[in-house]
Amino acid sequence: SETPEPLRARAEIDLGALRANVRALRARVAPGTQVMAVVKADAYGHGAVPCAREALAAGASWLGTALPQEALALRAAGLDAPLLCWLWTPGDPWREAIEADIDVSVSGRWALDEVVAAARAAGRPARVHLKADTGLGRNGCQPADWPDLVGAALKAQAGGELRIVGLWSHFACADEPGHPSIAVQLAAFRTMVGQAEAAGAEPEVRHIANSPATLTLPETHFDLVRTGIAMYGISPGPELGTPADFGLRPVMRLSAALALVKQAPAGHGVSYGHHYVTEHPTTLGLVPVGYADGVPRNASGRGPVLAGGKVRTVAGRVAMDQFVVDLHGDTPAPGERAVLFGPGDDGEPTAEDWARAADTIAYEIVTRVGSRVPRVHK
Ligand code: PLP
Repeated sequence: SETPEPLRARAEIDLGALRANVRALRARVAPGTQVMAVVKADAYGHGAVPCAREALAAGASWLGTALPQEALALRAAGLDAPLLCWLWTPGDPWREAIEADIDVSVSGRWALDEVVAAARAAGRPARVHLKADTGLGRNGCQPADWPDLVGAALKAQAGGELRIVGLWSHFACADEPGHPSIAVQLAAFRTMVGQAEAAGAEPEVRHIANSPATLTLPETHFDLVRTGIAMYGISPGPELGTPADFGLRPVMRLSAALALVKQAPAGHGVSYGHHYVTEHPTTLGLVPVGYADGVPRNASGRGPVLAGGKVRTVAGRVAMDQFVVDLHGDTPAPGERAVLFGPGDDGEPTAEDWARAADTIAYEIVTRVGSRVPRVHK
């Protein structure tokens, strides 16, 4: 018999949409360019293992995570595709990663030293991607330190402690069409890759493109593109276009069952602080999800919800576990589902709508859906 659907709240994950999105991304890159499915942060809240599996089935050939724990969890689940993990902290489990055939990113000398020590302990070479800061100003090796890092890595490669598998970087403003930093970073990347290759590095993959670059900047694709948000059917930037403009479909649908529908008189203060007061006698619906479930509190009074056949607005404050919508006299039955966001085909809002209401980006809306909300993969 089938497991009953979780009633209070659920995030339905449309794996068919995810597969179609991966195929759409594959179609945008040259046949020789590979696609990495970025599945960090539990696949941006969509469930790392099922999403990784489906993305690989649909034509992605690499996986990417931020944390080593995320990468090790994918290996433990039996996923054996090439897998790059890029955010390391001193003392992290390098040896376990090397033994699990996880590619590691190195941005500086401390990391190179830990990789070399771990490779010696493991008795096998580490697979390393050297990361250049071409202008993001975040992780990655500064251009001034690059020759030294490359030199030290080549020495370790000659000693059998590692293999330089990748040279890579990350964009700061690929989601802003025509931003001058894009060309500057691309030129810096070519220079830094050229320096490493002239020194003797023979990387299998050179990569810099994220979703916005994959969708709009073909000259940045190189050997591999790293796509996260687009795979989940969300546009990487409102200025670039809608998901549909890129042939993408949102994968997550977040809904909750109305927990109470009741009459309220005019002048009734609603939720903490009474920031909403009913104007007329009305009906109120209780939606049993709150900021502990990832509903942003700063969308109080603004977040849109499809309930009782119409889009309503969060009335008053979002609380930890619940919020209220004014149903303006409509009386949907308790248990009827309120949809916070989804693809939008049934009139429901999208994650982008919530991002606007909460003054953030849609990445944050889906990624922060809390662990109390069961993911239902379909
Ligand atoms: N590459 C790196 C290094 C990242 O940190 C991320 C995510 O932030 C991505 C690629 C994927 O970015 P996007 O979700 O815009 O495709």
